[in-house]
Amino acid sequence: MSYEPVIGLEIHVQLATRTKMFCGCALTFGEPPNTRTCPVCLGLPGALPVANAAAIHFGLMIGEALGCRLAPRSIFHRKNYFYPDLPKGYQISQYDEPLCLGGQLGDVRIHRVHLEEDAAKLVHASSSGRIHESRASVVDFNRGGTPLAEMVSEPDLRSAEQAREWLTLRCAVTPTSRCAARAPPSWAPRPS
Ligand SMILES: [Zn+2]
Repeated sequence: MSYEPVIGLEIHVQLATRTKMFCGCALTFGEPPNTRTCPVCLGLPGALPVANAAAIHFGLMIGEALGCRLAPRSIFHRKNYFYPDLPKGYQISQYDEPLCLGGQLGDVRIHRVHLEEDAAKLVHASSSGRIHESRASVVDFNRGGTPLAEMVSEPDLRSAEQAREWLTLRCAVTPTSRCAARAPPSWAPRPS
């Protein structure tokens, strides 16, 4: 029996804003752990998130670049799940009314582009940094709340090579939208 690869991609693009997605904490890198936090991005009781206008602008520019339909009304939801680097117990993301729908990049259709916040970063205390050799793990919340645009493709790719080629095309989107695309340094699978 032979199998046919059917590939769709979910790509997180980190937006080059000055501050985080829902608070005024500076979005800088390499700072001492837990020095870029506030009650909002730590999810302390009573804190109210306020959406970053620059992040929404960047999200709309990505939508424009991909030929998406830009939503006249778009809302954020809480996505509740447990993960040690998610201090609030939920991630603020978009579900049924994303910022951008449809679109195309090369031969691949775009399903949607929505905005969300990144989780914090787990640091595993071992010489290799790997979890299975560590006796303890600690959390650096500086990254928690970083604005991300999540680009979801339709399953139009048919091989790993084609997927890689398309991802290279995707890089062309980022200068267009003045966004910085960086792979999260300690990415781990989580609910999508
Ligand atoms: Zn904050």
